[in-house]
Amino acid sequence: MLSDQMWDSNNSVLFKKKQNGPLCQRTIQAVPLFFVVVFYSLLLIPHQQQRRIIMKTLLVFDFDHTLVDDNSDTWVIQCIPDQCLPDLVKNSYQKGRWTEYMGRVMSYIGDQDISPDTIRSVMETIPFTDGMIELLTFIVSNKNDIDCIIISDSNTVFIDWILQVAGVQAAVDQVFTNPATFDKRGYMEIECYHSHQCSQCPVNLCKRKVLVDFLAGQLKGGVDYQRTFYVGDGGNDLCPSNSLREGDVVFPRKGYTLERLLSRQSAQQGEGSSNPRVIGWTSGREILMELKACVPL
Ligand SMILES: [Mg+2]
Ligand SMILES: [Zn+2]
Repeated sequence: MLSDQMWDSNNSVLFKKKQNGPLCQRTIQAVPLFFVVVFYSLLLIPHQQQRRIIMKTLLVFDFDHTLVDDNSDTWVIQCIPDQCLPDLVKNSYQKGRWTEYMGRVMSYIGDQDISPDTIRSVMETIPFTDGMIELLTFIVSNKNDIDCIIISDSNTVFIDWILQVAGVQAAVDQVFTNPATFDKRGYMEIECYHSHQCSQCPVNLCKRKVLVDFLAGQLKGGVDYQRTFYVGDGGNDLCPSNSLREGDVVFPRKGYTLERLLSRQSAQQGEGSSNPRVIGWTSGREILMELKACVPL
């Protein structure tokens, strides 16, 4: 009786035609339907397997004063013979508009007939922060479990050169920073990374928006993160740090702005259980120790 009802709900037209027929006739109708159901179920299984989410660990790095132990945007001034900017350029900086200021710096460098090769050779001398090469090398050898991105207010050209000369580009899956190119005259031009609605961040870059969009894109592609490690030093690393989830870790560099902002914030808010852990660092090796504890070896 139950099976007749099910049959009726799914195949009402067929059933009405056959309901007075012999039992064997109804059984004959049911057999092909059974095979159709089994066939489509088998088709669906591999599809569901493809949709399975891969869980990894995500490392997010700031660049200046984090991966490298200086500011790449001020390091470049060393390629000017007297290593000094004229007051007209120096005094043109407006708060929150660093990218436009850097455009004027690079335009002045171009005016001094300093070639892209000279700029490159100067940028390649910027030192990496203690322990960071070890940390990046560990990431390279554990790419199955670790994804790694850089979110920086520097620019694509400087970061590419510096990662290349250290031989650690393979550690980094994506670099989110202001796009830069050289024009025909050999002048470097820098554009803003994006526009956003965040009132806390400089006009050209909200690192929280970059991170949130990246995580959403990865999830669509079938990758999610058990935990995110955010490593930074500056004021513009606070906004993304506040988007982290419970179980994530923010690593502020000891003695730098982010550490001060985080401790002031936690004093104001009190320790909340949903906050990410905060671990201060002075060397990349301290971050490496925490990372090793999360990666199956
Ligand atoms: Mg920084
Ligand atoms: Zn922001």
